[in-house]
Amino acid sequence: MRLSDTLTRGPAELPDPPGPMRIYSCGPTVYQRIHVGNAVPFVFAMWLRRWLQRTGYEVQLAINITDINDKIYEAAPGASAELARNATEWYLEDTSGLGLGRPDFEPRATETVPEQIAMIEQLIEAGFAYEVDGDVYYRVSRFAEYGRLSGQRPDKVEEQEPNPRKEDARDFALWKANKPGEDTWWDSPWGHGRPGWHIECSAMSEKHLGIEFEVHGGGLDLVFPHHENELAQSRALGHRFAKIWMHNGMLRLGDAEMHKSLGNVVTLQNALATWGRETLLLFYATGHWRKPLDFTDETLASAAARAEGFRDVFRSPSQPAPEGSWERFAAALDDDFNTPEALAVAHEWRDHALLRRALEIFGLESLGELPEAPPEVVELARERARARAERRFDDADELRRGIEQAGWIVRDSDAEFQLVPRS
Ligand SMILES: [Zn+2]
Repeated sequence: MRLSDTLTRGPAELPDPPGPMRIYSCGPTVYQRIHVGNAVPFVFAMWLRRWLQRTGYEVQLAINITDINDKIYEAAPGASAELARNATEWYLEDTSGLGLGRPDFEPRATETVPEQIAMIEQLIEAGFAYEVDGDVYYRVSRFAEYGRLSGQRPDKVEEQEPNPRKEDARDFALWKANKPGEDTWWDSPWGHGRPGWHIECSAMSEKHLGIEFEVHGGGLDLVFPHHENELAQSRALGHRFAKIWMHNGMLRLGDAEMHKSLGNVVTLQNALATWGRETLLLFYATGHWRKPLDFTDETLASAAARAEGFRDVFRSPSQPAPEGSWERFAAALDDDFNTPEALAVAHEWRDHALLRRALEIFGLESLGELPEAPPEVVELARERARARAERRFDDADELRRGIEQAGWIVRDSDAEFQLVPRS
């Protein structure tokens, strides 16, 4: 299997035969209900985990929760800790609504502060960081590879976090001294304060996956500065850190007008309530993970039609798929996890068992779970089967009409009969 890698700007081959596959994906900053776009890296990481497990890899997936961040202080001055706790619960609830399970590890920044402080101390000791009045900054000029991930020349890197106390405009904060109005802080060798966003992720990923792991994921908007800085922090300490960097394309809400008309439907919670998890998951799968994804009424309607198409297959008798069908599906996923291609292959199948196996990867096996008919309808269908066996065809027709009036369609199959709801 191969995956596109941001660092080498080319395909990276995964170990063959399969071995350990440790994946870290940057999770949300918790200060509001997450948006349908914030769910993209979660969905792809959970799917990738299922596919890698299916093909024999021992997967460990960590998706963090950023519960210490400027955005939280700004959203709830004086009450940031409470907002972060509530928003963490909303995130867990909303992503659980996708029905894809939970990652193996869901570390929170607030639980990893000692590890973050230890890393900052090591960086200072090695000359990669310096303290100014209770703040600690990373010394970008010391790290020769800086800018490689985001494709910037080391001497031309964009300024980040403007602040006259830094040695260099490119430097970024590892630790920030407590400011008035910030209601949460931690003790450190540099006084009361809190970690910077980037060091949180270096510490959380290494705590759970080790100083070297296979894949680091996240949205394309995180390449610079977040991931460039994570990489600089960890590699400065001699840690190999992530081998492959996967960045998913951003979800687009169309023009400003549409953004407005969709209103608060764009939260994951409301999108799930409006379209249901199956349509929403199929919508995510119709785009290649590296490309932008357009969230519009049309793309959602076409995902809903696709879901209905798969349900229809299960309402009809199963027919064996042609030889090599699964191999074609697997080849699409093994080639840079091409979900639209894999779904296009599965869309041709009428083989219930094979289709269910494919849909399981996406958490969509529920499309094959048809509702059960009530006992009185089942009884009518049994009587009809008896009538047919005894060649009483007028009675059989009469019973079929009764079944239809009750909202069901009876189909004769090898296994006696099948009842499917009338759509
Ligand atoms: Zn991160």
